[in-house]
Amino acid sequence: MTILAGKTILIMGVANKRSIGWGVAMRAAQFGAKLAFTYNSDRAGEQIHKLLAEEDITATVVHCNVTDDNSIDAAFAQLGSELGNIDGVVHSIAHANVEDLQGEYVATSREGYLLAQNISAYSLVASARAARTLMQHGGSIVTMSYLGGERAVDNYNVMGVAKAALESSVRYLAKDLGKEQIRVNAISAGPIRTLAAKGVRGFNDVLHAMEEKAPLKRNVDAKEVGDVTAFLLSDLSSGMTGEVLHVDGGYHIIGL
Ligand code: NAD
Repeated sequence: MTILAGKTILIMGVANKRSIGWGVAMRAAQFGAKLAFTYNSDRAGEQIHKLLAEEDITATVVHCNVTDDNSIDAAFAQLGSELGNIDGVVHSIAHANVEDLQGEYVATSREGYLLAQNISAYSLVASARAARTLMQHGGSIVTMSYLGGERAVDNYNVMGVAKAALESSVRYLAKDLGKEQIRVNAISAGPIRTLAAKGVRGFNDVLHAMEEKAPLKRNVDAKEVGDVTAFLLSDLSSGMTGEVLHVDGGYHIIGL
């Protein structure tokens, strides 16, 4: 299948080979996409170059700290000069203080709340604004959410509230950008063992609950998230925008 042939896809948020963003990148490449990446830490940049070399894939890789508007502007200016046009963006970025991912949500500090919102939700708005300028022929933006944005999930706390803002932003961005044929959708992924997930207290219990309760009786992996992301990036989903698709083995449909 070459559903992404001829498309240039920017992936924001690969830290290492376990990252959901890397699972998406692998599937997007297999479906024919030309890839570009942004990274924040030097370590992530090194990891991306190493992974690309291992897979023998050539891609544009640029630095971008999503908390800094100048960094976002510089990154998209560089992407524009190197690639011209982009067709898709995968926003796979989130961060919160570890102390805010355990215990009671009511204890969240103002600083911790704003940090989570800034990196995990506002970054989609800023990235979409920058990406729009490189999407002259329309495009597709996909972000990664979690059930904790819809329900009060133990320990997910401040990140759940950020995911609620992220999913709402998907709808508002879809409304704004639709006239330019830029679509904005989210995937609500089941739990996957990654660097970011390690910060959530009791994460192993969540993985076990999935195996026990999800209709598919198992966890999902980044490749399965990559497949649905590829669908959302492709013209197969050309009539869809503002949607949140669950890739969670059906866990979200289950009652008590
Ligand atoms: P990850 O740690 O591999 O990826 C998170 C990425 O965010 C990293 O690449 C990190 O460098 C980047 N990031 C953090 N701060 C940044 C900043 N200031 N500027 C730019 N980038 C920054 O973890 P992941 O699980 O692959 O997370 C990717 C997305 O998937 C996140 O939005 C996460 O909430 C979401 N998600 C994860 C799970 C899961 O169980 N792992 C489930 C559902 C949704």
